[in-house]
Formats: sequence, C-alpha cells, structure tokens
Amino acid sequence: MILDLHVHISALTRGHGKMSRHLLDTLAFRFMKWRLGVEGEDDATERAIADKLVRTIDETRKLDAVVVLAFDAVHDGQGRLDHANTHLHVTNDYAIDLCRKNAKLRFGASVHPYRKDAVAEIERCVKAGAVLMKWLPIVQGFNPADDRCIPFYEALAHHKLPLLSHTGGEKSLPNIDTTVADPALLLPALQRGVKVIMAHCGTRSAFGETDYVSNFMKFAREHEHCYGDTAALCLPTRSHAFPMVLKDKVVREKLVHGSDWPIIALPPASQLPVHKTVAAIADGNWMRRDVAIKEALGFDDAYWHRAAKVLGL
Ligand SMILES: [Zn+2]
Repeated sequence: MILDLHVHISALTRGHGKMSRHLLDTLAFRFMKWRLGVEGEDDATERAIADKLVRTIDETRKLDAVVVLAFDAVHDGQGRLDHANTHLHVTNDYAIDLCRKNAKLRFGASVHPYRKDAVAEIERCVKAGAVLMKWLPIVQGFNPADDRCIPFYEALAHHKLPLLSHTGGEKSLPNIDTTVADPALLLPALQRGVKVIMAHCGTRSAFGETDYVSNFMKFAREHEHCYGDTAALCLPTRSHAFPMVLKDKVVREKLVHGSDWPIIALPPASQLPVHKTVAAIADGNWMRRDVAIKEALGFDDAYWHRAAKVLGL
C-alpha cells in the first residue's frame, strides 16, 4: 500500500472544529482557498474543502490512501482549553467521520498531552481506528520532553500507535513556543518504545531560522524506531534537506511519504532537470505534484511503501 501520511483538513463548524479570524484573514490561507477554488467560511466551505480533498486523492493515482489529520486545540499547563490561542482546531470526531465516508482516508488522531483526559482520548481514538497520533508542539503549546507527556507515551507504546510530531519551524500557523521545535525533545518518547515520525525532518520554515535536519538525522541513525516524513520538503526553505537525507544510507531508509497537502509543493529547481521542473509546475494538483517531484528526485520503491509498513497497515 502506498500512503501519504501527512494530509490536513480544516473545519469551520461546531463539533468539527474552528479556524480563527486571524487565520482566515492570512494571505496564505486566502491564497490556498483561491487555489483550491473554495469560497466563504461556513459549513458549505467545510464541505467543499473535504470534497476537494477526496477529488485530489482520486486524481493522485500513485496513492492508495492518505492519513487525514485531526488537530487538537491549545491547552494550558493545567490542561485547560485555551480558545483564544487556538487558531486551528479539527476534532477527532470530524476526522473519524470523514474516514468513515471514504475508503481512501485513514484517521490521524490529535490529542494535546496536557489534557486531563488525554489517555482516555487516545484510547477512544484507537478504538475509532486511529493509525497515528499527530502533534505540532510549537503551535499547540507544549514541550514533548515535559514529564506530563510520560503517561501519554506509555499509552502510545501500549497501543502501538506511532507519533507523528512536527519538528523544526512552522509558518502557516501562529507559534506559541518556538523553543520546542528541536527533534531532541522527542527522546523520552523513543526511550519509552514509541515509534516516532519526525515531521519535516526538522527543517526550518524560514531562511535564517534554526535548522534541525542534522539533529533529526542523528536520531534517525541512532534510534531504530525513529523516522522522518517528507511533508512540505518541496518548499524552498526546506528542500535543502533532500540531498542531505537521500545521501545518507541509513537515514534514507527511515523516510516515509507525506505531502502536507494543502500546502503548496514547489520543485527544487537546482536539484532537478529543467523539463521535470516545468512538468511539475504545470500540474495544478499539489498532492500529485508532490509525488512527481519526489519520484524525479529518486525516491525508491521501498520509500513509497514504507509509510504503510511503519503504521502497520
Ligand atoms: Zn502539516
């Protein structure tokens, strides 16, 4: 099975989640809506985004399925919901619902580790068919190395649920704490037997930001159950990671496929022949374009099948 394990959805209605006024007004989100051919910010918009996702997957023949990611709200140090600082919220129930309606979708759960009901929510998600747990610490506001995460890691290890955690920078969503971008903070998870997929291989999201690719590579070499996904590596600030991770014989075997759709995929022109760059840009389906770029960069057959293997699918 060929799987894209890093695909986003957004929600705009009660029970499904929210997008903040700030996020709806950002240029990046307005551009994305325009590019996806979606209008408004109500229940019809939410349905249009979900329909667009399904059509995009169907057109991407290489893929058998994608993991659609829930996105938990920000919680404070006491585990209380922080509505004001939550710019994107996609409930587990909404992601579960989408996955029930479409055979090509797999459920990626998201649970803030400081929540008082975190372990119970992990268990509920596992029962509902979760194939991984998704985190974005710098945006959701927690430190993966904090002791409060330990029961969470024990539950993930017990249920054999892999953790897909963002590493490195992030520009699409407002950051709460940029000091928790380092892949090294996930060491307690690895030590407790959790399979960890470091999203974006620790890459920076802007030039001049700290880049953690070497840290990611060190962890991927030293820890059997440490992987990295290639989500959003087709962005100019992140694409320097391609030659680094592909050159390393051990690390290249720890890479799993993810696109970060609906984030744009731009071909790294200096790493590709001109005709492949031109062909990629001509494709308006960014999920399929992301696949074509990675095929052109030489990702092998084992890479394409690895995400499903790592998730045990
Ligand atoms: Zn993402």
